[in-house]
Amino acid sequence: MTTVKEIIGEMRGASSGDIAYVEKAYEYSKKAHEGQTRYSGEPYFIHAAATAKGLAEYGMDAVTIAAGLLHDAVEDGRVSREEMEKEFGAELLFIVDGVTKLGTHKYHGAERHAESLRRLLVATASDIRVLIVKLADRKHNMETLEHVPEHKRRRIALETLEIYAPIADRLGMGKMKSILEDLAFPYVDPDAARHTAEMLKTKEQESEEGLAKMQKELKKELAKKGVQHFRTKIRMKGLWSLHQKLKRKRDDINLIHDIAALRVIVPTVEDCYAALGVTHALYKPLPGKFKDYIAFPKPNGYQSIHTTVVTPEAGIVEIQIRSEEMHRNAQFGIASHMSYKQLGKGVVKLDKETQKSRFSALSFSWIRSLIPSLMKITKKENGVKSVASVPSWLAELAEAHADIAGSEEFVAGLKEDFFSHRVFVFTPKGDVIDLPAESTPIDFAYAIHSDLGDHIQGAKVNGKLVSFETPLGNGDIVEIIRRDSAHPSAKWLETARTAIARRHIRNALGMTEAPKPSRRRHSHTRKRSPGH
Ligand code: MN
Repeated sequence: MTTVKEIIGEMRGASSGDIAYVEKAYEYSKKAHEGQTRYSGEPYFIHAAATAKGLAEYGMDAVTIAAGLLHDAVEDGRVSREEMEKEFGAELLFIVDGVTKLGTHKYHGAERHAESLRRLLVATASDIRVLIVKLADRKHNMETLEHVPEHKRRRIALETLEIYAPIADRLGMGKMKSILEDLAFPYVDPDAARHTAEMLKTKEQESEEGLAKMQKELKKELAKKGVQHFRTKIRMKGLWSLHQKLKRKRDDINLIHDIAALRVIVPTVEDCYAALGVTHALYKPLPGKFKDYIAFPKPNGYQSIHTTVVTPEAGIVEIQIRSEEMHRNAQFGIASHMSYKQLGKGVVKLDKETQKSRFSALSFSWIRSLIPSLMKITKKENGVKSVASVPSWLAELAEAHADIAGSEEFVAGLKEDFFSHRVFVFTPKGDVIDLPAESTPIDFAYAIHSDLGDHIQGAKVNGKLVSFETPLGNGDIVEIIRRDSAHPSAKWLETARTAIARRHIRNALGMTEAPKPSRRRHSHTRKRSPGH
């Protein structure tokens, strides 16, 4: 059982108040979960404590760690929301509520809906810390998945692989991503997992000696050239990621050169390029394999220099060169920008220089792509007014990013895209369908299948029959009643908002030329009550 000392031991820069707060949450959670057990038969509290320890390791603040301790206490009805707020404050309750809400969206294995669900989860998490608690929660659940009834294991493992690992990846949390993938892999495809593990082990043994020699030689050369205070590490490729690559290379392990990679971690960016010079002077690089992710970071902010060289000691080896800061970012991603509470406490108030160093590593293109889809429109008397429904952490990131020179394009894009918003709706089975806002049941039907669209008899939203013109709202459960004798009419063209629906309707009507698309106005936006 994780002790409170172990959790506190991971907290860096914590005040005595922070420590007392976490200690209180620890005792409180232990009491709240008293008598409750996990599938393994162990006390339930083990899960809460392990989640909190993971969060402490990621450098999260005291409130987030305490939220990890208490994340299941409200849902289980062991503590009331009022009591939690009174004892631990509104901020903690806010995070716990967010984690509970995320748990209600489940993945049922339709791969084409995975992206929509990922977006929905990110949109639902009104604070980035909610996602990070959820990832820490999922990590411990995966570590203990063997105790869960067999029929549930595969769904949970698939959800981890398809939804949560990609979210971790996009938040730049590389370590979390590969841990989640490798925990899920054996449950999703046991034979392939065993096969890949054997290959990896063989490769590890083969390359061990050569890599150690090479490491020594490179160290000597770097020291000679004045690169000091560096460290080197051997990193083995993750199982799932190796499996994916093997599939692309027709199962020929000899075509994969980054199974074992040598990492060189140096103090500064200048040192990175100096180390690259030393490396290329020592070993011949393979042409076309050199990538400078320092000058051109990956969309999730990842930075490093990758080069693949031919060595006499270990054959073909990938070398990854990065600074200490890049290394920390590559492992913890967005979480490494969160420690010491900067993000939750209004990052825009930080001075420019701090902001720059904190955010320059992230280019946010994924988050940027999300922002338009998270805007919603509300009607005001004086016309249509745009209102941001962006989670505040996204807005803060966007604002912080907007202050950095050279991002006018980002701001401009944000304004232009303001109206191209999306809604997320559900099929009766719980699959998420991502549609443009103001979409109707007709768009929904065609998004599922053209045959369903061509035979719509009626539509139900949240169990009630509605007209075909009804605009769908976030979280609606939409059911299409199909009948062979039902066919599209010309009126449907005005009702459909998506190009795909209109194309199919025109086909069904035998129209060859597209009529001028009617400009839909936002005049009948339905007022919706939240909470669906
Ligand atoms: Mn949990």
